[in-house]
Amino acid sequence: MKPKYILALDQGTTSSRAVLFNSRCEIVAMSQRPFNQQFPQPGWVEHNPLEIWSTQSFVMENVVNKAGIEWNEIEALGITNQRETTIVWDRATSEPVYNAIVWQDRRTADYCDTLRERGLTERIREKTGLILDAYFSATKIRWILDNVPDARARAERGELCFGTVDSWLTWRLTGGRLHITDPSNASRTMLFNIHTLAWDDELLELFDIPRAMLPKVVASSAVYGATDCPQVPQPIPIAGLAGDQQAALFGQQCIAPFSAKTTYGTGCFIMLNTGEKPRISSNNLLATVAWQIGGKTTYALEGSVFVGGSVIQWLRDGLKLFSSSADSEPLAASVEDTGGVYLVPALTGLGAPYWDPYARGTIVGITRGTTSAHIARAALEAIAFQVDDVVHAMAADTGHTSAEMRVDGGAVANNLLMQFQADLTGVRIIRPSVLESTALGAAMFAGLAVGFWHSTDEICTLLKPERTFTPKADPAEMDRRRNLWHEAVRRSLRWAEQE
Ligand code: ADP
Repeated sequence: MKPKYILALDQGTTSSRAVLFNSRCEIVAMSQRPFNQQFPQPGWVEHNPLEIWSTQSFVMENVVNKAGIEWNEIEALGITNQRETTIVWDRATSEPVYNAIVWQDRRTADYCDTLRERGLTERIREKTGLILDAYFSATKIRWILDNVPDARARAERGELCFGTVDSWLTWRLTGGRLHITDPSNASRTMLFNIHTLAWDDELLELFDIPRAMLPKVVASSAVYGATDCPQVPQPIPIAGLAGDQQAALFGQQCIAPFSAKTTYGTGCFIMLNTGEKPRISSNNLLATVAWQIGGKTTYALEGSVFVGGSVIQWLRDGLKLFSSSADSEPLAASVEDTGGVYLVPALTGLGAPYWDPYARGTIVGITRGTTSAHIARAALEAIAFQVDDVVHAMAADTGHTSAEMRVDGGAVANNLLMQFQADLTGVRIIRPSVLESTALGAAMFAGLAVGFWHSTDEICTLLKPERTFTPKADPAEMDRRRNLWHEAVRRSLRWAEQE
């Protein structure tokens, strides 16, 4: 019998990727293609939805060619995607009525301020688990309906569809047969009630969004239908949908309550599985649906740190301390400690748990003896301090401290950073051998739905950690350092308000 495969489509903010997995969860082939980022005005970020689709379908065909397999050897495909990014298209022609408004886009920030002034923050948080912010889809949909001629009337007549990128890709892959999304994506729209697991009438009314344009919410793992588009010569079951961070949580096998993962990329994304009941945060974290599978819904708490690995890029490109990010490790390791230097990388404000858009980068404790090595070390430690702050906020929300954390993303190659994270947070840091957790998660959702794999336990036995970092430092010393870090953070807060 010929081997079979699962295809994961990983549609990210800067590129579309396709990854082919075999039954041992090994990557057989991978293809990636970047696409244009459009910045029509300060604070606006758009993608062309047709380019999202053309790059995604290109890599999908390319990965099959690269692997030298036949389409009929693919048992199912799963989709994972950049979240919150908003697309509205014509139901009859499949043509977008406007560009995709990307999650980073701030054009609706003022409108969010007016909602805040109307005292709606808590009501929205209670229902959606989200902080009232322009990131999420609701205010972006409203902007399209208010600014594209005729859009609102057409939406009310049921002629337009809204979708996050998962919906858009499914629509295109099935020639407009399926208009669906899963709860992990729906819970980032600010229109979805995470308690009732349904679109919420009160929120639809508040944001003035016609229900007729919303996708049907389906499980994260189930056979929804089959491909029906010229790019795929024969029907392949579409069987998994999830937002990228949730897919990464699943791909990291954080399936039991209180298991956690952190992605160390440009930013850091910390997610904690909180089990079968939503827990609304009292510490500025987001509550969100992790996934829905086998009739069971799993929830998560999430915290995002804006500047993670990108502080290392700044040392490289802005300060020219070294020529490649990997060189940060030997440079930092050339000194025993930071010599009392603390660097708060609030280059674009601070995310969870501070949420201060006016915070700015700060370096404190500089003396005549400070060298580039101390600064590099302080920058790496700052990544860990920020993650540690979120982990503590999660512990405060749940009353539970996890003993381990799984990690992925580009910066986990840095052993010094990983060891410091283990020392500081006092948890085992587990670095898996398959670092493509997001794509793996999408493949797992699809593979479980079609019986390619039979259980998450079966998958867990296939995946071995590459390395585990265990805490070695004196906890009292780490507490002392953490206090100094908090003092440094305090000095960075609201800085831009002074300008
Ligand atoms: P993204 O998916 O957000 O684009 P990646 O997961 O590819 O990011 O991670 C890239 C980030 O990781 C960059 O910001 C880079 O500076 C950082 N990085 C990569 N390698 C290292 C390293 N060895 N040490 C520290 N940071 C690193």
